[in-house]
Amino acid sequence: MTADSLTSKALLRVKRRNYFVCALFLAAGLVVHCLVTRTVSPPLVIMQCLWGASYLLLGLGVGAGLFAPQATAVVAGFIALVGSAAFVTLTGGVRGPYFHAFAALPLLVAMFTPDARLPTVVSGVSTMGAVALMGHWHEMPLTTVLPQVAGIGLFVGLALFSTRTYRRMGEAQRVAHREKLEMLERLAESERRRRHAERERAEVDRLVLVGQLAAGVAHEVNNPLAFVKANLNYLEHEVRGEELPRVRDELLQVISETQQGVLRIQQIVMDLRGFSRAGGPCEERGGALEVALPEATRMASVRLRERGEVSLALEPGLPLVRLGHRHIVQVVLNLLINAADAVEMCQTRCLAHIAVRAWRVEEGVRLEVDDNGPGIPADVLPRLFEPFFTTKPPGKGTGLGLALCREFVSRSGGTLHAENRPGGGARFVIVLPVSEESRPLAM
Ligand code: ADP
Repeated sequence: MTADSLTSKALLRVKRRNYFVCALFLAAGLVVHCLVTRTVSPPLVIMQCLWGASYLLLGLGVGAGLFAPQATAVVAGFIALVGSAAFVTLTGGVRGPYFHAFAALPLLVAMFTPDARLPTVVSGVSTMGAVALMGHWHEMPLTTVLPQVAGIGLFVGLALFSTRTYRRMGEAQRVAHREKLEMLERLAESERRRRHAERERAEVDRLVLVGQLAAGVAHEVNNPLAFVKANLNYLEHEVRGEELPRVRDELLQVISETQQGVLRIQQIVMDLRGFSRAGGPCEERGGALEVALPEATRMASVRLRERGEVSLALEPGLPLVRLGHRHIVQVVLNLLINAADAVEMCQTRCLAHIAVRAWRVEEGVRLEVDDNGPGIPADVLPRLFEPFFTTKPPGKGTGLGLALCREFVSRSGGTLHAENRPGGGARFVIVLPVSEESRPLAM
C-alpha cells in the first residue's frame, strides 16, 4: 500500500465526517427550533429528516470511495440550497427568523470541499440567485434584497479565501514532506558513502600490510634466487659438454624443469614487489589508451592463439589517463588472460569472445572488459581482489593478478570492480581519471 493511497483514504474519512457533522447539526437545529418555538411542524420535521438523511448517505458514499468528492459536494450544495429554501419558507419566509441561514451555505460547501474552489463558487452563485428570486417573489424592496445578496457575496468571498488558505497549507505541508524525504535520502547517501570509504580504508590498510610483507619476502627470496639461477646456467653449460648422451639428456631435462620452476618463483617475486610502493618506480607520465590497449590485446592474442579473439572499441579522441602505459598494459593483459582462462573452464567448450571498450565519462575514462565465460560465482565475487585468492589449480594461478591490478588502478585515483553481465559472462569495469597533461590549463 502506497503513502498516497493511505493519504487519500484518510482524506475520504475526513470528508465523510464532515457530512455526518452536518447531518448532526441539522438534527440539533430542528430540536432547538421545536424547543424554542414549542411547536412541532410535521412538514418541517420530515423535510429536515430527509435533508439530514441525504447527508448521511452522501457521507457514506464518499467515505467508501463510491462517489467523487467534488461532484458530491456540488450535489450537497444544491441539497443545502433546496433544504434552506424549504426551511426558511416553512419558518416564516423572507421575513422569518432564519432567512440569514442562506449566508451560511457557501461556508458549508467550503467545509465539504476545502481543497476545491468550484463547488463553493457554484453554491455561492446559486444561493445569491435564490435569495434574489425569493425577494422578488415576496415583493421585497430592492434596497433590502441587494444588501442581502451583497452580504451573501461577502460570505462567498470568505469561503473562497478559506479554501485557498487550506490549499496553500496543504501545498506547504507537501513541500515540507518532500524536503524531509530529500534530507533523509541525503542522510542515507552520506551514510552509504561513509561505509564505502571505511571499507576502502580497511582494504588499503590490508594492502599496505601485504605490501610490507611482500617487500620483505621478495627481498629475501630474490638474493638466493639469483645464485640458484646462475648455478643452473653453469650446470647447463657443463652438462652440454657431457660425453654420455643418455646422462646428458636426463640431466638437461632435470635442469630445464628446475629452470622453469625458478622462472616461476621469479615471476611470483616480481608480482609481490608490485604491492610494495618501493617495489617499482611509479609511472609519472599519463598513459594513452589508444596505444596501450591495442598493445595489450596484441599480446593477449599471441597468448590466446586459437582459443578465442579479442575485439577492441575505443571512442576516438580519448584523453591521457593517470595510469601509466606499462601499468595499463599489465592490468588489461591480466584481465584478458583471466577472461580466456574462465572461458576455457566452461563446461561447454567454446571460443573466447572478449570485448574491450573504452569511452569518456564524467569521472574520466571508463574501460570495460566483457567475456563470454561462466561469470563469477556469488561466493567468489566478494573475494576476487584479495591477494592470493585463486580458484585456479596449483601451479596455474597465484591469486595476485587482480589484487595487483586494483592496487595499480587505485594508486592512480581510479576504480576497478567486477560484476556479472546480465546476459552471462563476467565484466570488469575500470574508471580512470584523466591525466593532468590532458587537462586544459586553468586560466
Ligand atoms: P589468478 O588468475 O592467479 O587466479 P587473479 O587475482 O587474477 O589470480 O584472479 C583471481 C580469481 O578471480 C581467479 O582465480 C578466478 O577465479 C576469478 N576470475 C578472474 N577473472 C575472471 C573471469 N573473467 N571470469 C570468472 N572468474 C574470474
